Amino acid sequence: MNLPELFERFGTEEKCRDYLEELRWPEGVKCPRCESESISRITTRNQLDCNDCRYRFSVTTGTLFHDSHLPLTKWFMATYLVTESKKGISAKQLQRMLKVSYKTAWYLAHRIRDAMGDDDQPLLRGIVEVDETFVGGRRLGVGRGRYRDEDNPPVAGVAQRGGEVRLRVVRDRSRGTLHGFIREHVADEAEAIYTDEWIGYQGIGDADTRHESVNHSAKEYVRADVHTNTVEGVWSLFKRGIVGSYHQISAKHLPAYLDEMEFRFNNRENPFLFRDTLLVLVHGEALPYAKLVEASA
Ligand SMILES: [Zn+2]
Repeated sequence: MNLPELFERFGTEEKCRDYLEELRWPEGVKCPRCESESISRITTRNQLDCNDCRYRFSVTTGTLFHDSHLPLTKWFMATYLVTESKKGISAKQLQRMLKVSYKTAWYLAHRIRDAMGDDDQPLLRGIVEVDETFVGGRRLGVGRGRYRDEDNPPVAGVAQRGGEVRLRVVRDRSRGTLHGFIREHVADEAEAIYTDEWIGYQGIGDADTRHESVNHSAKEYVRADVHTNTVEGVWSLFKRGIVGSYHQISAKHLPAYLDEMEFRFNNRENPFLFRDTLLVLVHGEALPYAKLVEASA
C-alpha cells in the first residue's frame, strides 16, 4: 500500500471505523459484554446497542483506540509509517508528521511496536548463524571483552538461513550467557551453528549439531558456506536505522527496538503487516496512556 492508497482507503474516521469493525468482528458484531449477536445500530452516533443486555458500545470500546482519544486516522497513519519504514521511525519524526505532541507520538510508536512483536516463536533449525555486537556509540566495533556496562549492553542475534531471526539484549558475552541464548532459541537437533572464533561460542556443537566458525581476526569471513553474513547484515541494518532515525537510544528501550527489527525482518515478505498490526491493536488490551508513561519513567 502506498501513501495515496492509505488516504483513499483510510482518510476519514468513518472508513477507519468500518475497517476496524471488519477486523474486530469478522463474523458480525458481537456484544463485548454478553456476546449477543442481536445488535442495533445507532448510526448517527456510531454507536451499537445490544438488544439483550442493553449495553451501548462502539467498535473502539475496550480497545486502546478508545482510550487514547486520538482520531483513528492518526492511528492508521502512525501504523502505516511505523510498519512501512524499513529502518524504523522515531517518535520525533512521528510528532512532526502527524502534528501531535511528543508524548502522544512516543505513545503511538511504542504501542504500535508492541503490537508488531509476535508471541509465537518457534525454535530455529537447519543452519543457523549466531553473532553478538554492541549497538551503542563508542564501544561499537571496539575490542572484545567480558565487561558489563549497564548503559551499553551487548546484543545477541541468531538467524536461520532462509528463515527468521531472534535478537536479544544479553547480560554479557560470556560462554554461559551465549550458550544459554542459543539453547533458548535454537532446536537441539539443528544441523549446524556458524559463528566467529569468539571463545564464548566454543563447545556449542554436539553429536547432531555441527559447530563451525570463521576466524574474523585472521580476516577469514567465508569458508565454503560457513559465514555469519546474514546476522551481520541484520546488525548493520539495525545500526543504520538507529543512527539514521533515532539518534540515540537508551538501554531501557533497546529491547523494544530489537523486537521491532526482529519483527520487521521476519515479516519482510508479509504484505499484510499493516493489517496484522491493526488486528493486534484492536484485539489487544487497552493499556492506558498514563500507565505506559508511568512504566517508562
Ligand atoms: Zn449484550
